[in-house]
Amino acid sequence: MDLYEYQGKQYFARFGIPVSPGGVADTVDQALAVADEVGFPVVVKAQVKVGGRGKAGGIQLADDAEAVRRHAGAILGMDVKGHVVERLWIERSSDITHEYYASFTLDRTAKKHLCMVSARGGVDIEEVADSDPGAIARLHVDPLDGLSAAAAAQLVAEAGLHQVAREQAAVVVQKLYACYEEGDCDLAEINPLIYTPDGRVHALDAKVTLDDNARFRHPEWDQFAGTETTDPRERLAKEKGLQYVGLDGFVGIIANGAGLAMSTCDVVEQVGGSPANFLDIGGGANAAQMANALEVINTDDKVRSIFINIFGGITRGEEVANGIVEALGRVDISSPIVIRLDGTNAEEGRRILAEHGSDKLEPVPTMIEAAKRATELARGSRP
Ligand code: GDP
Ligand code: MG
Repeated sequence: MDLYEYQGKQYFARFGIPVSPGGVADTVDQALAVADEVGFPVVVKAQVKVGGRGKAGGIQLADDAEAVRRHAGAILGMDVKGHVVERLWIERSSDITHEYYASFTLDRTAKKHLCMVSARGGVDIEEVADSDPGAIARLHVDPLDGLSAAAAAQLVAEAGLHQVAREQAAVVVQKLYACYEEGDCDLAEINPLIYTPDGRVHALDAKVTLDDNARFRHPEWDQFAGTETTDPRERLAKEKGLQYVGLDGFVGIIANGAGLAMSTCDVVEQVGGSPANFLDIGGGANAAQMANALEVINTDDKVRSIFINIFGGITRGEEVANGIVEALGRVDISSPIVIRLDGTNAEEGRRILAEHGSDKLEPVPTMIEAAKRATELARGSRP
């Protein structure tokens, strides 16, 4: 789960990483109230889960209430790389002497945590990695050993941070490790980590990805839930307990089992179609799950045909057929449905579908033929 900057900063603060005082605002009036509370000058920041907000105009300094009004009004509703700004973070503005970079993430190849520190923060770190890889100091951390104060100190020195900032920066790096490790993050990144004219080191931005697999031991993460995805299809699917990933194509896909769902996407691509989604209704899919799956796909405007691909093992053919019939009764499915039903009780399933006799439904015996037919129907052509 990706966090917004303001949530990331709340998370940082729990581990003692210094951040600026501030508050969230969903309206211009709220922005003014927060600014009054934290004191001018402030910085008005778009809350979207995408980097480069600064370059897009989503971050503005404001010296007085009039400026807050103007900037908050302009940033709310702004489109930052396809993400519409619905919330602002207003914080006390900082003076900046230097901008650094610090992060922890997992290096899957090395099977260790990777810490990266650079004196060239504030800018796109991928750009630095490409143009000047030597400017990023790297250290692998064995989770069993942890990160010692000496190792953190050596890393910030190696990264070439200014002498005056090193001691505090090393402490922040250690706290960032605690946040990443105890806080169960996949990524904890500060860019920029700043050094101020009055000699303080603190986090001006926060990029945090929580490891969803650790959710069971973090009941406090519930406060971040509900905000984690902006795709309404994915939100609905999650509510219904379906494994769903939204894609850009036009053939809606429902399959039982992740492997079959992936092959179905591949086969649709192979015959010149384009999948609108990946959707796995699971091994023991029943009627209710099938109905839910059709309902989710039906909310996707891009879908022009639906391909249901079921190979019955635990999932029984008649259950799937009943689910489709139930769904057709429950929701007004707008696209034609092509179904390939095989495996356990497939005969019985086909009989139920044939009896139902909907002109929306087209049974096709093999996977490749069904993919072709679904693509054809989506393109509006008839053989
Ligand atoms: P990003 O563009 O999404 O990474 O957003 P950041 O929060 O990293 O802000 C981008 C840039 O805006 C920073 O690198 C700073 O140069 C600038 N900035 C952000 N907050 C402040 C602030 O409080 N004071 C000043 N002077 N500049 C800021
Ligand atoms: Mg940043």
